[in-house]
Amino acid sequence: MPNYRYILIAFCLLLTFSATKSYALDIQQIRFGAHPDKIRMVLDVSEVTDFRAFILPSPPRLVIDLPRFTWKAGHPPKPPQTMISDIRQGLLMPEISRIVFDLNKTVVIKSAFLLPKNGQQENRIVIDYKTANNQEFSANKDVLHGTLKIDDYKNTIDNITSPAPAQKPVQPSYKKQEKPLIIIDPGHGGQDPGAIGHYKIPEKKLVFSLAKELKKQLLTSGKYRVMMTRDKDKFIRLKDRVKFARKHGGDLFISIHADSIGKSSVHGASIYTLSKKASDAQTAKLAEKENQADLIAGVDFHVEDEQVAFILGDFLINDTMNQSKFFANTLATKMKSAGINTLHNTHRYAGFAVLKAPDIPSILIEAGFVSNKKEARLLNKQSYRQKMAKAIISGINSYFNSVYRNESN
Ligand SMILES: [Zn+2]
Repeated sequence: MPNYRYILIAFCLLLTFSATKSYALDIQQIRFGAHPDKIRMVLDVSEVTDFRAFILPSPPRLVIDLPRFTWKAGHPPKPPQTMISDIRQGLLMPEISRIVFDLNKTVVIKSAFLLPKNGQQENRIVIDYKTANNQEFSANKDVLHGTLKIDDYKNTIDNITSPAPAQKPVQPSYKKQEKPLIIIDPGHGGQDPGAIGHYKIPEKKLVFSLAKELKKQLLTSGKYRVMMTRDKDKFIRLKDRVKFARKHGGDLFISIHADSIGKSSVHGASIYTLSKKASDAQTAKLAEKENQADLIAGVDFHVEDEQVAFILGDFLINDTMNQSKFFANTLATKMKSAGINTLHNTHRYAGFAVLKAPDIPSILIEAGFVSNKKEARLLNKQSYRQKMAKAIISGINSYFNSVYRNESN
C-alpha cells in the first residue's frame, strides 16, 4: 500500500517549490557588432542552454526562444546597422520565453551557436545574420537554428493557462545548415620560399603538401567545406589571405607553416594565436619573420583599417580571440594524444598579421621546424603528413562539437 503521507509531503514540497521558483537562466546582456557581410548579435546568458532562432515575415522579425528566463539585459542599444527597430520579450508558454527583434529589413540567419563560458567570458549565444532579398528570405523562413524542442514543453501547456504568446509558435521543418567552411592557408609561395632547412626543400612546398592532405581528409570526413588561400605555388600577401577568408565567410582559418629557428635542437609542432604581446621572445621573433613575407613583393602603403572600421566594439575581436585560443588549446591536446611530438608550451601567441581576421577564429600551426634534421625528414614523409592531418582534424571536430552544440541536427 503506498504511503500517502509521504506522497502528500512531496506534493506540498512541490507546490512550495513551484511557488518560489526563480528561473535559473538569466539574459544578462545583448551586444552587436557589424561586419561587411553580417551583423553579429551576442547574448550573454548565465548558463549553457538550448535555444532556437528563426525569422518571421511581415513584418520581418528575428525570434529567439529559450527556456523561461529572467531578463536582466535592460534596454540594449540598437545601432542602425543592426536593422533592429525594437526588442520585446515575454513568456511564450509556461516554461518557454521568447525574444522578438523587430526589423526594418528582411534578413536571414547565417549561423547561430552557443559558446560555453571561457575565462572571463560568459556563456554566449551568437547569432549572425545579414540582409536578404525576398527570395533569400522566403527560402530561409522555415529554417530553425538551435536545439530547443518546443514539443518537449508541450505537456506543460495543456493544464496550465498561460499569458497569450507574443507570437504563435511555429513548427517549421528542419533544414540542414551549411557545413562549416575551413580555410586552409599554406604559408609562403611563389617568390617567397619560406624557410629552407635540411634537405633543401623549401617551406612553401612542405606546407602545401600538408595543406593538400588536410583538405583531402577534411572533405573525406563529409563534415566540412574547405577552401585553400592558394592552390598552387603562388605569392599571396598576408592581408589578402585574411581578405580571402572573410570574403568567403570562413568559419575557421588555419595557416600552416614549417619554419626554421636559430637552434637546430628545437623541435615539435606548435600552435599560435593572435595577441598584441608575444608569449615569449622566440615567438615574437617568429611572428616578426612571418610578417615580413609581404615585404618580398615590395612595401604596400595601402591602409588596411577598413576591417576594423566596421567593428562597433572590441567585444567582437575579443570573442574571436577567445575562440581562437579555445581552438588552439583543443588542438594542442589532440595533437599530443595523437602522438605528435609537440613543442613545450604548445600554444603560444604573438602579433601574426595573417591571424588578424576580426571575425574568424584563426590559428597558425608550425607543423615542425625544418632547422631540426629529424623533423625536416618527418615533414617530408607522406605518412607523417597523414598522421598530422588526422590529428588536426580531430582538433577541428572537437572544436565544432563544443562550439556548435546548438546547431540543428
Ligand atoms: Zn613560415
